[in-house]
Amino acid sequence: MDISVVVPLFNEEESLPELTDWIRRVMKQHNFSYEIILVDDGSNDSSWKVIQQLKLSHEEIIGIKFRRNYGKSAALNVGFDAAEGDVVITMDADLQDSPDEIPELYDRVVNQGADLVSGWKQKRYDPLTKTIPTKLFNSVTRGMSGIHNLHDFNCGLKAYKKEVVKSIEVYGEMHRYIPVLAKWAGFINIQEQIVQHYPRKYGTTKFGAGRFVKGFLDLLSIFFVGKFGKRPMHFFGTIGVLSFLIGFFITCYLIFEKLMSIASGSVYRNVTDQPLFYLSLVAILIGTQLFLTGFIAELISRSSSDRNRYHIEKVI
Ligand code: UDP
Ligand code: MG
Repeated sequence: MDISVVVPLFNEEESLPELTDWIRRVMKQHNFSYEIILVDDGSNDSSWKVIQQLKLSHEEIIGIKFRRNYGKSAALNVGFDAAEGDVVITMDADLQDSPDEIPELYDRVVNQGADLVSGWKQKRYDPLTKTIPTKLFNSVTRGMSGIHNLHDFNCGLKAYKKEVVKSIEVYGEMHRYIPVLAKWAGFINIQEQIVQHYPRKYGTTKFGAGRFVKGFLDLLSIFFVGKFGKRPMHFFGTIGVLSFLIGFFITCYLIFEKLMSIASGSVYRNVTDQPLFYLSLVAILIGTQLFLTGFIAELISRSSSDRNRYHIEKVI
């Protein structure tokens, strides 16, 4: 099969018939063999009924229904597991992304060697309260991930080589960082394509302003886990030992200074009367804590089931 289209959806009953019709039209025009995987993320409107109805007349539709709302990342992850096409395309269900982009996305993956092609909604139809923070979010993500050629990490419209979706795990709210996950998994040919964006036709957005706080925390954890997840001691140990040593040497210095003063008969202050002493105590305590944290993290990662999971590309 050429293409799997994975569509996560939550309460999008009005959009679904139009969306599937549109996808079908594009696929027919270009003679692709395809499947449409609609993942109903626990909708409480009649989305699932609509999917059942659509399925009756179109066997290329696969419907998956969650018992409750788990989030877009979970829906994508399950869709990725089910996908069988050589190229996997994800798109939002709200008709903001255009299926007309599919042929070019497909071409980039198949003929131009891209592992992942991310859409860029250069001209967006979203409120300013969303577009401005998004700019900031994207530039921070670019800097931290080293993927400098993407302008729009969170674009719902993306295309992947099949191997990519089978090698990454999208959980929590990590759907915003799939290109970063792909890069950590070793897929470095990440490209961008400018795509059409439309205003939301039906329903309302499913993410509030909280998305930016959560998004930022997720970025920190993804960065940390990617870099130090398999060797936490290198992170905690280094700053722990450093902090401990600073505290330790300052204390030594204070004691040495006092002894020198006693020996030379000049006036001296008690070590405990000096602010520096308390600062060094704090440094020693924090240093020990960090070191122990690193040690415990090391024990945890040692017993995790994927401690030895690597992505082997080829064996000959
Ligand atoms: N979505 C989902 N589960 C959720 C929230 C959203 O599957 O818990 C889907 C939603 O139905 C849509 C896509 O994720 O297909 C993007 O959501 P939305 O359009 O609300 O986000 P925005 O365009 O405002 O970023
Ligand atoms: Mg949308």
